Amino acid sequence: MNPQQPISFEFFPTKTAEGAKKLALVRDKLSVLNPLYYSVTYGAGGSTQEGTINTVASIKEAGYSAAPHLSCIGSTRESIKSILELFISQGIDRIVALRGDLPSGHRDVGEFRYANELVEFIRAETGDHFHIEVAAYPEVHPQAKNARVDLDNFIRKMNAGANSAITQYFFNIDSYLYFVDSCKKAGIDKPIVPGIMPITNYSRLAGFSDMCGAEIPRWLAKRLESYGDDIDSIKALGLEVISSLCEKLLAEGVPGLHFYTLNQSKTTLEICKNIGIKIN
Ligand code: FAD
Repeated sequence: MNPQQPISFEFFPTKTAEGAKKLALVRDKLSVLNPLYYSVTYGAGGSTQEGTINTVASIKEAGYSAAPHLSCIGSTRESIKSILELFISQGIDRIVALRGDLPSGHRDVGEFRYANELVEFIRAETGDHFHIEVAAYPEVHPQAKNARVDLDNFIRKMNAGANSAITQYFFNIDSYLYFVDSCKKAGIDKPIVPGIMPITNYSRLAGFSDMCGAEIPRWLAKRLESYGDDIDSIKALGLEVISSLCEKLLAEGVPGLHFYTLNQSKTTLEICKNIGIKIN
């Protein structure tokens, strides 16, 4: 087992100045774990563009490495080009490139249809400036025609110039291992970093998992469900299950761990402590 693999943390942009202050505290608490970078999500259709830019700027100003997410659906080439230029002027050299989803009620898909087109565009416009991460779905993207087609699409996206990938979260380690193995067989040997979702709130997790196509195994769902409003028991089981998942992943030699922090530090810190991540 190698607990010294790089770790990274994902935030979503805050809406208020007070939220930004709280997030800065969370970021500083997590910094003892020496993350490779903090990534910041980008709302559907660019709805949080300003928040993403400001959050990334604050991370950079504090002396850390920041990776904005950038989704392309509903965008023009011109608008993507100008945001790339802005990121470059902010000293950003890592980006998470996504198709994203159109906000409900919006119909105009814009000038990009899929993430592979965004990756190609970033490479064409900015050469090798950015380290490009893309999204991977070990349990299959919810809109994919089937698993085989989804894998082909992922491979196309990697071959378009991505350096590495971060997965949707999963609780079944075999889904990840089979996915990585299938990629290797198809000639993709770039890092595919597991996305880790701490468990702190069962109803929120269940709703989100339904939407993004991540499966909560029946035994885990039933146990979490049985705790009802007993948040302490949900958190305790969640901590045990996710720490064990991370340990098994590290033992399998994963290239890193990417934590969906949900803008909280406590659970992520506890998981990292449990699995022996070095603390500053
Ligand atoms: P794509 O890779 O384009 O795939 C989307 C679907 O289209 C898949 O079903 C795929 O099989 C299919 N497909 C892909 N390429 C082709 C092609 N060339 N022809 C035909 N079909 C194709 N969402 C946000 O809004 N903001 C975020 O910040 C954000 N961050 C994320 C970070 C991670 C690590 C992950 C895993 C997801 C994130 N998402 C985010 C969610 C993501 O935007 C959605 O899952 C979205 O539906 C797909 O984006 P994608 O980049 O994976 O799309």
